[in-house]
Formats: sequence, C-alpha cells, structure tokens
Amino acid sequence: MFLKGKTALITGSTSGIGLACAKALAAEGAAVMINGFGDAAAIEAERAALAATSGAGAAYSAADMSKPDEIVAMVESCIARFGGIDILVNNAGIQHVAPIDEFPPEKWDQIIAINLSSAFHTIRTALPAMKAKGWGRIVNTASAHSLVASPFKSAYVAAKHGIAGLTKTAALEVATQGITVNCISPGYVWTPLVEAQIPDTMKARGLTREQVMNDVLLAGQPTKKFVTVEQVAALLVHLCRDESASITGANLSMDGGWTAA
Ligand code: NAD
Repeated sequence: MFLKGKTALITGSTSGIGLACAKALAAEGAAVMINGFGDAAAIEAERAALAATSGAGAAYSAADMSKPDEIVAMVESCIARFGGIDILVNNAGIQHVAPIDEFPPEKWDQIIAINLSSAFHTIRTALPAMKAKGWGRIVNTASAHSLVASPFKSAYVAAKHGIAGLTKTAALEVATQGITVNCISPGYVWTPLVEAQIPDTMKARGLTREQVMNDVLLAGQPTKKFVTVEQVAALLVHLCRDESASITGANLSMDGGWTAA
C-alpha cells in the first residue's frame, strides 16, 4: 500500500483502461476520484468497491472532458475533498473512424477536446497543488498512434501526437519540482473503445469482423495479442513509485512491438 496518503484523479475511468488504473491505484491505498459516463448504479457500485479497496475514500465526478469549466471544477473538487492531488491520469478518450474528406468537423473538434485539450486543462489546474507538495505524478494515456499513424483516424492520431508533445513540455517545466510527467502508449487494448470501432472499420474497409480483428487491429502488433488493461495499470503504478523519479518526459510504448517494426 505504498500510495497511502496520496490522492489520484483518473479521467475517463468508468470503463476500460481508466477503470483498471483506478483499481490498481486504490489497491495501493490511494484515495481516488473517478470520472466518465455510464449507468449511474454501475458507477456507484465501482466507486463503493474502490473506497472499500483503498480504505481512503473514493469519489465520482460526472464532468464532461470536452467542457473546460467542468474540468476545472472537477480538479478543484478533488483537491477540496481529499486535500490535494498527487497523481493525475489523463485517460479519457474517444475514437471516430472515417476518411478525412468525410470526417465530420464536429467529431474532429470533440476528439481534440476530449483526447488532448482536457489534459491541458487538468494539468494547468492541478499543478499548483502538486508544486505546493513538491511531489506529483502525471501520466497521460497516449497510444501507439502518438508515434505512428493509421488511415481514417486523423483526429485521433493528431490528438495523440499532441498529447505526446504536451507530456514532454510539461515534464520540462516541472522537472526540478518532484513532479514527473510521462505518457503510456499502448497498442490495441481489448476495451469497449476498440469494440466500438469494429463496425466503422468494417464499413470503411469493406471487411468482416474477423478480418478487422486479425488483419487490421492485430496486423501490426507482432505479439498477435491484445494488450491488457491490467498491464497498462501496472506500468502506471510503477511510475508512481519513488524509484521512478528519473523517468520523466518519456513516451513509454506498450504495444507488443508495433512501433518497433
Ligand atoms: P473506453 O471507451 O473503455 O473508456 C473511455 C472512458 O472515457 C470511459 O470511462 C468514458 O465514459 C470516458 N469518456 C468518454 N468521453 C468522455 C467525456 N467527454 N468526458 C468524460 N469522460 C469521457 O476506452 P479505453 O480503450 O479504455 O480508452 C482509454 C484511453 O486509452 C483513451 O484515451 C484511448 O485513446 C486510449 N487508448 C486505448 C487503446 C485501446 O486499444 N483500447 C489503445 C491506445 C490508447
């Protein structure tokens, strides 16, 4: 329980990678604030389970990561409730798959807002509290798409390349203040986000579901295995250790060899 006394805010944590990250941090004793959309009763059950695991409290914010004022209010309420914010995980993200000349401009704006700009707003609001304590961990969920592109994912690839740049810049700004800033770049992780893009990819490329799974999603992943949410969460926990104090500004790939090719 090496995170006893610490508080973590994880955006987009009612599902997938974010929920696994919340569980892993709570298991080490951190108080957690989760965020995201979904069924109210299911979210309350997850919140209660996290509180029981950590013994340090768990809260939920319904803030919409496309709305800067709601993002600022979420970070402020986390600090007010738990007396600080030590670990910030910017994880909320959505996807839309379409050729650029058919890409809905409002989808472009939404993806840039949720997958990139939300992290700017959480970081700018949380940093003063981290600086006051002289300790902090900021971990952004980027993607293999922060390093390489795939067709039909223009907004997502642009946002993920952007968050890799934001990670490096923030890391340099706070390097002497006990705060590290890194991003984790998974390949394909089996979550609802991946499941949801299968129908659009089938349509965009004229493929069957099995062809999308094997010939598109896992085509570039040399291990031929999906990354698991637990593997991503375990790297996050490692980054929170004092032994990881020199890892900052890094883009840590966890992609089964995808970007090595
Ligand atoms: P997911 O769909 O399971 O979870 C996304 C979470 O974000 C959910 O909790 C959802 O409610 C929340 N969310 C969506 N829009 C939101 C908004 N406007 N405001 C607040 N919360 C919102 O997806 P996931 O696969 O766990 O993805 C999490 C992150 O990991 C994303 O940033 C994604 O780009 C990244 N990622 C995923 C994969 C993958 O293969 N699944 C690979 C690389 C990176």
